[in-house]
Amino acid sequence: MPGAWIDIDLDAVLFNYQTVLKFLQSGSRCMAVVKADGYGLGAVEVARKLESAGCSAFAVTSVDEGLILRRHGISGLILVLGPSGPEEWAEALQNDLSLTMSSFDYLVELENIARELTLHAKIHLKVETGMGRTGFVQADLEQVAKFLAEAGHIEVNGIFTHFARAGQRDLSYTLEQHKKFMAALNRIEELGIHPRWKHVCNSAAFLDHPEWHYDFVRVGTLLIGHLPGQAFSGRLKLKDPWLAKCKVEALYKVPAGTYVGYQSVYRTKTATQLAVIPAGYADGFGVEPRLIPQGWIDLLKIIIKNIALYFGISLGQEKVQLRGRTVRIAGKIGMQLTVLDVGKETCALGDEVIIPLRRASANPRLLRRYWADGRIYKERYLQEGFLSVDPEYPIVSVDS
Ligand SMILES: *Cc1c(COP(=O)(O)O)cnc(C)c1O
Repeated sequence: MPGAWIDIDLDAVLFNYQTVLKFLQSGSRCMAVVKADGYGLGAVEVARKLESAGCSAFAVTSVDEGLILRRHGISGLILVLGPSGPEEWAEALQNDLSLTMSSFDYLVELENIARELTLHAKIHLKVETGMGRTGFVQADLEQVAKFLAEAGHIEVNGIFTHFARAGQRDLSYTLEQHKKFMAALNRIEELGIHPRWKHVCNSAAFLDHPEWHYDFVRVGTLLIGHLPGQAFSGRLKLKDPWLAKCKVEALYKVPAGTYVGYQSVYRTKTATQLAVIPAGYADGFGVEPRLIPQGWIDLLKIIIKNIALYFGISLGQEKVQLRGRTVRIAGKIGMQLTVLDVGKETCALGDEVIIPLRRASANPRLLRRYWADGRIYKERYLQEGFLSVDPEYPIVSVDS
């Protein structure tokens, strides 16, 4: 057992899924989004748990992610939401992955590859309505429809779009996106192409727009126990399946005035105890996405935060829990080691410390420990091993 790990409660994920089902309009299905290795929880474990509870559709970003799910026995629909390239398609089609198509040239290439393999490519058309990322716009549709009408190896199973500002108080941008999506759908149907399913909702739109649940809702954030924005607090109860932990691996009594860590930004004010934990920014600890200020107040907050940091005061949420108490981080978080100022409170070597760790950016090298039915049933690291190794590659052994 390493000194740092993440406990993941799959029953909590199941609870969140069942909560989503309660809000789901009849006729719609939940497509569980398990991209980025299930937002850091482990795509295979989450998908298996949900499939065993009746979930029949999953979404990931890349073909690679989809193949991992298939290889681990997921038999439901797997939609690759992101763009993919021709070199990946043979394997994708052989493994019955549904592909998102968002450019005409690739549509033509996909038809060629599917014909050569004598397979049918299942596709979902992505419509660009305001995310500014991928997708067809209204002007593309005539050419696309014309081609699809002739293409004998492509099944248009879906059409979808993705909202950029769902969850904002001001709904106008999302309404506009939805309008563009419906216009695109109408247009392509006019042109004789009838996608089997349509879907638009992510977690935020799922909560705000029950009237748009359609054939699928693509929900990820809610399943892992997060609300997609502060505006939703109190709207529904979710369980948090995620607890990042590590052990106190060193403990010292030090006098007042002791400098701690790189650049000595921290100096103890009184005699105290310092505890060392084996977690740092290489694990994703203390790593925050760069925030772009949304207005003046936000900008001011960011400036104040940085001024405080200059004086060695951390105003972030980088607080950890030890024996039910909140404990301060002393100095800078290191690559793999961090020091805590425990004060005079009781603390012992081996004590468990709960650390805040963003799910999707937590290091895959941290051990995941899976809980279900109140017990640990599996421990693993997230990475999958080698895709290929060149047998000709010389292994040079170095004698020291
Ligand atoms: C990530 C993603 C989702 C899920 O969004 P959540 O807010 O996590 O529910 C849905 N659709 C697309 C296209 C996505 O990329």
